[in-house]
Amino acid sequence: MSEHIIEHWVNNAPFSGTSSATADVTNPATGAISGRVRLASDADAHAVIATAKKAAPGWAALSLAKRTQIVFRFRQLLDERKADLGAIITSEHGKVLDDAIGEVSRGLEVVDFACGIAHLIKGEFSEQVSTGIDVHSKRQPLGVVGIISPFNFPAMVPMWFFPIAIAAGNAVVLKPSEKDPSAALWMADLWREAGLPDGVFTVLQGNKVAVDALLDSPDVASISFVGSTPIARYVYERASLAGKRVQALGGAKNHMVVLPDANLDLTADSIVNAAFGSAGERCMAISVLVAVGPVIDELLPRIQSRVGTLRVGDGTLGCNMGPVVTREHRDKIVSYIDGGVSAGAKIVIDGREIKVADRPDGFWVGPTVFDHVTTDMEIYTDEIFGPVLSVVRVDTYEEAVELVNSSPYGNGVALFTGSGGAARRFENEVQVGMIGINVPVPVPTAYYSFGGWKDSLFGDTHAHGMEGVRFFTRAKVITSRWLDPSTSPSPELQLAFPTND
Ligand code: NAD
Repeated sequence: MSEHIIEHWVNNAPFSGTSSATADVTNPATGAISGRVRLASDADAHAVIATAKKAAPGWAALSLAKRTQIVFRFRQLLDERKADLGAIITSEHGKVLDDAIGEVSRGLEVVDFACGIAHLIKGEFSEQVSTGIDVHSKRQPLGVVGIISPFNFPAMVPMWFFPIAIAAGNAVVLKPSEKDPSAALWMADLWREAGLPDGVFTVLQGNKVAVDALLDSPDVASISFVGSTPIARYVYERASLAGKRVQALGGAKNHMVVLPDANLDLTADSIVNAAFGSAGERCMAISVLVAVGPVIDELLPRIQSRVGTLRVGDGTLGCNMGPVVTREHRDKIVSYIDGGVSAGAKIVIDGREIKVADRPDGFWVGPTVFDHVTTDMEIYTDEIFGPVLSVVRVDTYEEAVELVNSSPYGNGVALFTGSGGAARRFENEVQVGMIGINVPVPVPTAYYSFGGWKDSLFGDTHAHGMEGVRFFTRAKVITSRWLDPSTSPSPELQLAFPTND
C-alpha cells in the first residue's frame, strides 16, 4: 500500500492531527491506490476550526487594499499553474486533462470576480434622512466559514465559494471530498505562496465525522455545501438548527428538450458533449433527452455516429472521456444500466462491456444511450451520475414542459429550438434555476449566481455573483446624529415613536 499520506492543512502547513484513520485514494484510470487521506476525528476538526477562528479577526481587520493584493496574487499564480492543478485532478478524479484544466479556468473566473471585492462590498449612505440625521450601511465578514465539497469538481466547486469568502474578510475551513482530496491542498499551498496569513485558509480532510463537527461547531458561522440531495438536505437541516447560515446545493437530473425546428447538428454535438463529458459526473450533465414529435428519428442516428467517434481512456492520454471515480461507482452505474434493460427501455448504445487497452483495472463505463424510457423507470427517476443518457419521447411542447416541471430536481435544463417565441415561453414556464437556450451546460458565469431550484438547492442563496457576496457578509445599518458644534442644540423629550422630519 502507498505510504503517501494526504494531510490536513493549518497555519500554512500540512497537519497530521491525532486520528490514525485514513481512506484510500485511487487513480481511476489504473485502479491503483495513489495515497491515503486522513480522516479527521472530532478533536482534529476542532483543532482546525480553532486555527481559523484565531486568524479570522486579524484578516478581517486588514485593509481592503491589502486583502485584494493577496487575492490578486493567488489569481496570477493559479492562472500560471493551472495545468499543474489539472494534472492532480485527472489523477484522482479521472476526468480528461482538458476538462480538468477547464474546471480550473471556471474557478478562476470567481477569483477574478473576487478581486473586485472593494467595489462589491461597498455600503450605502443617505444624508439628512431626517433633520440632522444620516444613515449608512456596511457589510462585514461572518468569521469562520465552512465549505464542504463533492468529488466531481475538486477545484471549481470550492472556488465557487472561497475566493469571495476570503476577499470579504472571512477565514475558511474547506472539507474536500475524501475521493480526490489533493487539489484542496495544492490550492492551500498556493494561498501560502500568495501571502495569505496563517490560518485564513485551512483544509480539513475527512468524512461524516468532519462534516458533523463543522455543522455543529459554534465557531463556524456558515456552511456552503455541494453534494447529493440526501446529504444536502441533512446538512441544511442540521446546520440551520445550529443557527448557521446555510446554502446546500444538491443533486440533479437535467433534461434537454428538443423541438422539431432545432438545428440537429448543433443539438447532436451538444447532447453528446453534455451527456458524456466528464463521464456524466457533472451536476449540469444532461441525462434526459426529451424529444418532441418526430425529431428523434433524425437526431438519434446523429448521436450514434458522434458517440462512435469518442475515445474512452486514461485522461492523461488525449482521450475524450475518462473513467468514473471509483470501482463502487462504476458498479452502481452498471447496475442501473442492467435495471434499464430489465425495465424494458431499448438500449441503443451499451457501455457496459467497454475494454480499455493497457488499463484493464480502470473504472470504465462507456457512453450508454437508452430510447423509449418512461418516467416510472429508475434510469429516469434516479440521478445515476454516469455516462447514461435516457431518451423520453413526447408529442408536444406542453408535455415536455410538464415532464421537466414534474421532476423533484430543478438544477439545469436546456431547450434546443429555432424559435425565439418558444424559447421565451420556455424560460418563463420552466421551474428550473439555470436554463440554456441552444446551450447544453448553462453554468452561469462568475458574476451571475449558480444554483438550482427544488431538491437541487436548500437555502435561499445561490453560489458566487452578488448572492455569494451577500452570503459571506452580514449587513449593518447605522443611523447617526452629530450635533453641529457651532449651533446650540435644542433637546426635547419625545417618547413617541421616532418619525422622520
Ligand atoms: P456526496 O453527497 O456523497 O458527498 C459530498 C460531500 O459530503 C463530501 O465532502 C462527503 O465527504 C460528504 N458526505 C458524504 N456522506 C456524508 C454523510 N453521510 N454525512 C455527512 N457528510 C457526508 O456527493 P459526491 O458523490 O461527492 O458528489 C456528487 C453529487 O454532488 C451529485 O449528486 C451531484 O449532482 C452533486 N453536485 C451538485 C452540484 C450542484 O451545484 N447542485 C455540483 C456538483 C455536484
